[in-house]
Amino acid sequence: MIKEKGILFVLSGPSGVGKGTVRKALFEQDTNLKYSISMTTRNKREGEQDGVDYFFRSHDEFKEMIEQNRLLEYAEYVGNYYGTPRQYVEEMIEAGHDVFLEIEVQGAMQVKQNFPEGVFVFLIPPSLEELKNRIQDRGTESEELITSRLQEARKEIEMMESYDYVVVNDDVDNAVKKVQAIVQGEHCKKDRV
Ligand code: 5GP
Repeated sequence: MIKEKGILFVLSGPSGVGKGTVRKALFEQDTNLKYSISMTTRNKREGEQDGVDYFFRSHDEFKEMIEQNRLLEYAEYVGNYYGTPRQYVEEMIEAGHDVFLEIEVQGAMQVKQNFPEGVFVFLIPPSLEELKNRIQDRGTESEELITSRLQEARKEIEMMESYDYVVVNDDVDNAVKKVQAIVQGEHCKKDRV
């Protein structure tokens, strides 16, 4: 068997879907994944630690990282910057470790461009499933409602198409199991062994 490089896994999805909760639960379990700690300009929340939850940095420091091309991706989100330091990811992958990013959608799309061999997992709320069923069942809903739901669904589905996997976050434990199965499955792909 050839020595494998690590695999980059990217978990993202619409805001509020529970990415952070799923990621934390995933890392509480025995896992060989390495978590890439993001850099952010937002203020530290109570209980958060620099170098554990994020690298909390000033705008100037963040700008310098961008200018020096030291971020694999970055995005502005609700008035703050968030980004993935490039070096850690590249070194870990090269050393054969899997790396896990938990980032929002704009950033994930940049990673896809810079790192197309990554595995992209889209987490969706269970309500989208309900929405899908309802849309399929149109006629039972008012036209106005169908239109606005379709609009919302379309936005999400457009993003979903760029991902390799979709996980419904109906229950955190279930979602974690599915992500673990994806990780295992990726390692069994014939072009990786
Ligand atoms: P929060 O401020 O709640 O910790 O995170 C806000 C959003 O930023 C979440 O959707 C989170 O997934 C995303 N995020 C965290 N780190 C990164 C990163 O390095 N890059 C990008 N693009 N988004 C991130």
